[in-house]
Amino acid sequence: MSELKPCPYCGGDAKRKSIGKYRVIKGRGQSYLATVGCRSCNGKATSAAFDRETAWEYAEETWNRRVLSWVPVSERLPEKKDIYFVIAQSREKKSPFKTLADYDGKSFVKYAWCEVISWLDDHTFDKQEEPE
Ligand SMILES: [Zn+2]
Repeated sequence: MSELKPCPYCGGDAKRKSIGKYRVIKGRGQSYLATVGCRSCNGKATSAAFDRETAWEYAEETWNRRVLSWVPVSERLPEKKDIYFVIAQSREKKSPFKTLADYDGKSFVKYAWCEVISWLDDHTFDKQEEPE
């Protein structure tokens, strides 16, 4: 078991949460889905593999993966269609919040009622590395 980093959402401690049978893949057999997550909030990461210990290791790697910086939308948009972790601002309320938003190749579409300010080029982030 590798050392788990603190929760990127709230800073809480993380732990192995659950593992269960996942898909059966022809020629490979039963796979397992492991979930690693925060003890304090709903932050979590899941990964699948063909044996339990590898599934745990993959989920831990996913949980521990962090990125370096936020990218302002005004400077550069993502290069591919995907769901990105973003800092958005509601049009009525000025306070920014973090959420997931769909990028369709032209603009962030899921939250049309708010303005996406910046995004991450990965789906996890380090609490210490949020922009001001
Ligand atoms: Zn948390």
